Amino acid sequence: MSNNFVHLHVHTEYSLLDGINRIETLPEHVKKLGQRSLAITDHGNVSGSYKFFKSCNKAGIQPIIGMEAYYTIQDRSVKDLDDLGEPYYHLILIALNNEGLHNLYKLSSLAYTEGMYRKPRLDDFLLGEYSAGICATTACLGSRVSQLILNDRKAEAEKMIHHHKALFGDRFLVELQLHEMEEQQRVNKVLMEIALRENLPLIVSNDCHYTHEWDKQLHEAALCMQTKTTLSNEKRFTFGEIDVHAASHDWMWKNAQAQGMPYDAISNTVSLASMVDSSSYFSDRMNRYPKYQDLPEGETAHEHLEIVSKQGLFNRFGSMPPEEYRNRLDDELVAIKKMGFSDYMLIVAQFMEGARTVDVLHGPGRGSAAGSLVAYALKITEVDPIKYGLIFERFLNIGRGATPLIFDHEMVEKIESLPVSHTKCNHKH
Ligand SMILES: [Zn+2]
Ligand SMILES: [Zn+2]
Repeated sequence: MSNNFVHLHVHTEYSLLDGINRIETLPEHVKKLGQRSLAITDHGNVSGSYKFFKSCNKAGIQPIIGMEAYYTIQDRSVKDLDDLGEPYYHLILIALNNEGLHNLYKLSSLAYTEGMYRKPRLDDFLLGEYSAGICATTACLGSRVSQLILNDRKAEAEKMIHHHKALFGDRFLVELQLHEMEEQQRVNKVLMEIALRENLPLIVSNDCHYTHEWDKQLHEAALCMQTKTTLSNEKRFTFGEIDVHAASHDWMWKNAQAQGMPYDAISNTVSLASMVDSSSYFSDRMNRYPKYQDLPEGETAHEHLEIVSKQGLFNRFGSMPPEEYRNRLDDELVAIKKMGFSDYMLIVAQFMEGARTVDVLHGPGRGSAAGSLVAYALKITEVDPIKYGLIFERFLNIGRGATPLIFDHEMVEKIESLPVSHTKCNHKH
């Protein structure tokens, strides 16, 4: 077993009725094979990306998020077949960092809303707009490059590679696949020639659709459901003898070698994985809260939070609060600052004040929020956490990194469903 290979072309349950790999178990499987990274490249969507990210982290595997896009050489608004009689082609896109991930989201959305013709398609314009942080590969037999080769239009296939390279630069790779069918062999041969001549990096993939070799029949059954037929239909769409399981390094190298591929095509998959900054994925997820809008001139949100919560605590006591309270308040403020929730606390305090002003029904606090002295000082809650021995860490915990929760949806719904007479406005207009 070697860790010198990474599956960079992988379909999961988010390739509907085509991918049999389960996001929940696949990372564990490749880890057992000694692999350190794993990609997800579902057809036309990135909907499994966050689930995949979490599952890989749990298994201790580097997640690589990508998509097998549908690509048209025509304008995406042209809903018609092209010169080869094709509605779309396959193209693998991989996010090298968080910017690339967000671009994948945009590309996938726009393909659905603007490029839909049988499948959600991208065109050169969209790729040009959103290619930052993304690397691409020639994908499978379904790519424009492969189809040109199979139509004996080799010079144009080469041109197409130049075309992609002009956009992606050194973030463009040539992908070989191991299937023993004649077409694949022809395509591989030409791709290897071009890559060698043009000094383009090669990778090899197994276009992985299921996890174990014995899942093949299950995959065939899914294809039957997709194409609305049964296994007994001899003319049905099938993968035939092709084995697209999540193979080990040794299996991949044995087959690649037998087909005259260089070892670089195996080891380059690891080089590509090392270029992916997976730790940046979703790194902006925590701090997408609105900013507090009523800050006094020259104060940061946290400085303002410190001032108003100290004042609030003083008001609760009507005099200098006991040392235990002052220390607890300071500790909580440090944690709130560290977690970036100063604006959040100020905003919640503001709309609680609003609720009191217009006499909207509100409770004394719920759940873990009652454990916060800052919340008590700001009149978000009416429960003194020290008096009742409630701990702050259940509300906000630096180690846990979860979002604080002050309201539940049920309460919001209850407020919304109140008859109008329960909410009277005291404002003089
Ligand atoms: Zn494909
Ligand atoms: Zn594929």
